[in-house]
Amino acid sequence: MEPVGSGSSKPDPTPSSPSPSTSAPPPSRYESQKRRDWNTFLQYLGNHKPPLTLTRCSGAHVLEFLKYLDQFGKTKVHVATCPFFGHPDPPSSCACPHKQAWGSLDALIGRLRAACEENGGRPDANPFAARAVRIYLRGVKESQAKARGIPYEKKKRKRKLTVTAVRLDVDLMN
Ligand SMILES: [Zn+2]
Repeated sequence: MEPVGSGSSKPDPTPSSPSPSTSAPPPSRYESQKRRDWNTFLQYLGNHKPPLTLTRCSGAHVLEFLKYLDQFGKTKVHVATCPFFGHPDPPSSCACPHKQAWGSLDALIGRLRAACEENGGRPDANPFAARAVRIYLRGVKESQAKARGIPYEKKKRKRKLTVTAVRLDVDLMN
């Protein structure tokens, strides 16, 4: 007589094909923003010379994209020679350039990182998670904090919450 292993012959009840798109929740504000960002990035890749595909996209291209976005920025970042350098609330205007605020770029990269994986990008080859991008963002954060006289310590907690939200969204999508 052979002892039968407990539960070894039980059939696996896991369905092999989950029904798609029948019970999808309506897109949240985060989801629609993410979609918009992703389309902007794809458009950027399409207009790139020479044209780029997502699979050939590296962290360096992501940095190009972030610098390209600066021209649409609305945050005044004082140059070191400006009298308002390090002044959080200047009494008058100056000729310093507008840029994308660090917080906007940081949130944008989080959304694009998630969107990339949802659109078939491999997690270990995600250009938005590249080390160069992290280093660039850290540099932007430090230089803008100095130039604008704004410490980012207070925003740190908010940022962590955003990151958690991104993870939750990714889990829901899978
Ligand atoms: Zn200035």
